[in-house]
Amino acid sequence: MPASMQGEMQPTVYRFRFGGFEIANVLDSKVIRDGLYPGFGGNQPAEAAQEVTRGNNIETDRYEHPFIPTLVNTGRQLVLFDTGNGALRREHERLRGRVPDGDLVARLVQAGYQAEDIDVVVITHGHPDHIGGLTEGGKPVFPRARYVFGATEFDYWRRGDNVREARKFNRELFMQICAPLADRSSFIKPGDEVVPGIRAVDAAGHSIGMMAYHIESEGKRLLVWADTCIHYVMSIQRPEWHVEVDDDKDKAVATRKRILDMVATDRLFVAGFHMPFPGLGHVERSASGYRWVPVSYQLNL
Ligand SMILES: [Zn+2]
Repeated sequence: MPASMQGEMQPTVYRFRFGGFEIANVLDSKVIRDGLYPGFGGNQPAEAAQEVTRGNNIETDRYEHPFIPTLVNTGRQLVLFDTGNGALRREHERLRGRVPDGDLVARLVQAGYQAEDIDVVVITHGHPDHIGGLTEGGKPVFPRARYVFGATEFDYWRRGDNVREARKFNRELFMQICAPLADRSSFIKPGDEVVPGIRAVDAAGHSIGMMAYHIESEGKRLLVWADTCIHYVMSIQRPEWHVEVDDDKDKAVATRKRILDMVATDRLFVAGFHMPFPGLGHVERSASGYRWVPVSYQLNL
């Protein structure tokens, strides 16, 4: 008898030591989406997009879109950056008769932690794939946690002024999920410290008040850049190209350029929520922009 096919088997947790900290990138889930172009590079001709995708051996029409929260254990506090899609996506998939592939809490268990162990949940910005896992059935998923939001971001969604049409439903979700957590939340601004070794960096543009987070321990430095760059080719090789899901497109371009320059110049490690799993790497300068260099063994030394 020939051996049977076993199906896909791919890692969902990547845990490593980082100075005195321990960090785990945990795959909440991933989806295949249509339209890498014009979702990325909508302000460019189709040929320009095709040239870039062909040059990188990827398709122009379809792409894989992962969701990767980052968990940092500082030795004193357990800090989770973003919560994935949570029940939102599981319901969405069930309604379509599909078995949902992801579950952050189950995968945190694989990483060695229970939901009750999380001390701080930091929300980089208020989009559904980052806040969806905060509550389930109206109850907090991380029962002991306090929450950290960027003050500008929280205020923007709470006020609900000038929310573009495509984000109206997002605003309802934010009010339903995040607004009730306000009394257990702190609201911070760029430069503020979350816990020793973790500091907020302005990354507004993709959303009105998005924040990245600089993590430093024993001289090692890493930037959790959230959705500064959403695709590892399109956003990094062509940072000036517009991205449909960026709420302020021009500001997002300026922020992308500033942060890419910073991580390339300072040789920071990057944890990217939508970079290919494990979502860790470096950025190098190239002739046309920058290049994503996925992690190799650097974090094992
Ligand atoms: Zn996102």
